Amino acid sequence: MTQRAVFIDRDGTLSEEVGYINHPSRFRLFPYAGAAIKQLNKHGWLAIVTTNQAGVARGYFAEEMIATVHESMTFQLEQSGARLDAIYYCAHHPSVGEPPYRFDCDCRKPRPGLISRAAGDFKIDLSQSWMVGDRYSDVEVARNAGVKSALVLSGYGRGEWENQSSNWKHQPDLVAENLLEAVAAIVRQTSAD
Ligand SMILES: [Mg+2]
Ligand SMILES: [Zn+2]
Repeated sequence: MTQRAVFIDRDGTLSEEVGYINHPSRFRLFPYAGAAIKQLNKHGWLAIVTTNQAGVARGYFAEEMIATVHESMTFQLEQSGARLDAIYYCAHHPSVGEPPYRFDCDCRKPRPGLISRAAGDFKIDLSQSWMVGDRYSDVEVARNAGVKSALVLSGYGRGEWENQSSNWKHQPDLVAENLLEAVAAIVRQTSAD
C-alpha cells in the first residue's frame, strides 16, 4: 500500500530563518511546529523534512553538525508529542568547496532527489503528496518531484511572495501564513475529497 507524505523544508518553515545553522544553539523551532507535525501524525500523513545544507560544502560546519542539530530538533518536537518520519538533507554544492561535497548532485533542491529517495524508501504516492516551504525553490522542487506545493509566508516566504512571485514560472498550489495553517489546509482539502 502506498502512503502520502508532506515534505517539509526546515529553515524558514519549521524553524526561524537565521542563516546557516552552524551550531544547535542557533536553531529556533517555530512555536507551532510541534502542533503542525502532530496534525500530520494524527491524520496518517508521513512527515518528512527535506533540507539543503550547503554550509557543509562551503566549509562552514562539518556534516556531523547536521545530525546534532537534527537530534535537537527531533527532541524538541517529541516534547510536544510530534514525530518526524524521516529527515533527508543535501550537503552538496555544485561549484563551491571540495569533493565529495562539491558535487553536481541530484538532491539539492530544486532538484527532486531527496523527495524521490524518500518516495522509494517509504512507497509514497507522490501525486497525493505535498511539499511545504518558504522559498520559490521549494515550489520548484515540488513541481520537479510531482507533488503539490504550499508556500508559507514565514522565513523568506512573505518577501519572495510579495516581491518576486509575479515573475515565477510556476505558482504554488497553496499559500499559507505558516506551517500550521498549511497543514490545516492540506488535511482539510484532502479529507473533503
Ligand atoms: Mg527554507
Ligand atoms: Zn545533494
